[in-house]
Amino acid sequence: MVEVFASLQGEGPFTGSRSVFIRLAGCDLRCPFCDTVYSLDPRAGRPVDVEELARVVEEERPSLVVVTGGEPLLQRRGVNELARLLAGRGYRVQLETNGTLPAPEPGEPLYQVYHVVSPKDVPVAVEGARLHPSWVEASRSTGRVWFKFLASSEEHVEAVARYVEEKGIPWERVYVMPLTREGMSPEELLGLHRRVARLALDHGFNFSPRLHLLLGLR
Ligand code: SF4
Repeated sequence: MVEVFASLQGEGPFTGSRSVFIRLAGCDLRCPFCDTVYSLDPRAGRPVDVEELARVVEEERPSLVVVTGGEPLLQRRGVNELARLLAGRGYRVQLETNGTLPAPEPGEPLYQVYHVVSPKDVPVAVEGARLHPSWVEASRSTGRVWFKFLASSEEHVEAVARYVEEKGIPWERVYVMPLTREGMSPEELLGLHRRVARLALDHGFNFSPRLHLLLGLR
């Protein structure tokens, strides 16, 4: 684990939820726009006991626990253990993944939690990024899987639309959200949010803000 902290969920279907974020180390991709570079090396983390994490969560009493990275599914066994423990104690759990590894199967504790998949093969294709097809199936069958795509232009949103069509992803399960740059001023951030929200609306997608960036939160 790299870090655990409390904040608001800034993105996706649970935006605004008071959350505890558990960030795990290691990722199978190297996206040029990654904003958590410090989590990519597996050696960036420390071993942690799931009971210790559950205690931190209990202290914060959040409405959502977000397991993120890096790519958390690289530590599937541990994440399954954590999901079993937290879901068993009544917490709503959401996992964030880049979608390159297979979706959880029935019988895995992870199958019961919410998933937000951020494919990295569109609109900016990252080397090695390929959405595992099981996520599309899961988005149709479980009702607990959503997709979010980063975009900053009409070309980006059109590329997302073609991708969603080709893969057969249910459109109502898709969020488009602003692809930000480091060092953007509050005005630039807001302007980008307005543009991407308009594009999402025009193309029939949900829009997700990046609320934590707008509010200056983690
Ligand atoms: S998949 Fe996510 S964590 Fe991994 S490099 Fe890309 S943006 Fe960073």
